[in-house]
Amino acid sequence: MKEKKKLSLPAWILIALVAGILAGLCFLKNPDFTTEYIKPFGTIYINLLKFLVVPVVLTSIISGVVSLGDVRRVGAIGWKTIVYYLATTVVAIVIGLILANIFKGVFPVLQVSGLEYEAKSSKVMDVIVNIFPSNMWGSYVDANMLQVIVIALFIGVAILLAGEQAKPFNSFIESAYAVVMKIMTMIISITPIGVFCLMCNVVAVNGPQIVGSLLLVILVAYAGYILHFLITYGISAQFLSKVGFGRFVKGIWPAMVVAFTTTSSAATLPVTIECSNDMGADPEISSFVLPLGATINMDGTAIYQGVAAIFIATCYGVNLTLGQMAMIVLTATLASIGTAGAPGAGMIMLAMVLESVGLPVEGIALIAGVDKLFDMGRTTLNIVGDSTCALYMSKLDKARSEKKAVKA
Ligand code: ASP
Repeated sequence: MKEKKKLSLPAWILIALVAGILAGLCFLKNPDFTTEYIKPFGTIYINLLKFLVVPVVLTSIISGVVSLGDVRRVGAIGWKTIVYYLATTVVAIVIGLILANIFKGVFPVLQVSGLEYEAKSSKVMDVIVNIFPSNMWGSYVDANMLQVIVIALFIGVAILLAGEQAKPFNSFIESAYAVVMKIMTMIISITPIGVFCLMCNVVAVNGPQIVGSLLLVILVAYAGYILHFLITYGISAQFLSKVGFGRFVKGIWPAMVVAFTTTSSAATLPVTIECSNDMGADPEISSFVLPLGATINMDGTAIYQGVAAIFIATCYGVNLTLGQMAMIVLTATLASIGTAGAPGAGMIMLAMVLESVGLPVEGIALIAGVDKLFDMGRTTLNIVGDSTCALYMSKLDKARSEKKAVKA
């Protein structure tokens, strides 16, 4: 008897995405209905992913560090990961700035009088100080991921250093990690429902009218996202990790759709881990590199911040100098590290970038209405970057252990 072929999860996710867009178009005249009755199911899905974020990051980074075996290996992979993340982020902002400068002549000049936007504290030093927790439970409750990562690194390294005595605690963490992963698989299986509900609402609410005047700026940001995807990640997948770009795109696709619809790197983390491991990333490495990336590596956010800064400057009639652009590269790199992997977080950190070059923070109000559309693309790019790093670090580590084995 011929067995009935079941559709894979990525196929279901794609169907849900298209169906969500079509359904959203049907509700263009009545977006309130989708906001009231369809979006809540999407919100449930996001909440389910979010409630898992702290336990996933905590247990996966601790067990990632411990499974690396010795503190030196943690250090070796750790610094390479950070260099990779920083380098790709700088490339991303430069792409964003170049594109925005080429196209700034066609940017719409919007009315800037009467704008208001209240910036939260976003000074560079505050970002650095806030990385370090003062209350362990507070960091968990606030889901402050940079702090959770610092705590996890401390615990992981301490387990390695404590040796025999930390064995029971380590087994507890291992077992907690296995449980968290099981919950994750359950939640991931309802992704198509979440994607459908979220997409339907975004299309219905952000119909063509709102997008209109800002379409060009959005297109420039997306051109930057796509270029970075094809060039930087293309090179990484093809030549650094040697996974092959086509295979990489196919493998990371489910996580891309989840990121696109949830606009949260942190919430997408469980799916990013699964996709990366399926493509051959070493689970020991990806459980360390990916949670770190979901928190500090935001290439899409960096491109967006470069494009947005040039756009806001254009609206205010300011021509940025090369020195100011260099300042943007620096602050946008820091801002993207400080950006939480949460919806809309990149827009809040944009304040820091604008302040650093003396642009009015109220300018954010010009693009705030369509931030969701920027956010969908930038989050997608953010998680793709994390995955390329996990694959590359796995490859480097494999080469290192093979070399060691030959020597031995
Ligand atoms: N939503 C983005 C993310 O989670 C952050 C941002 O707003 O730029 O990666």
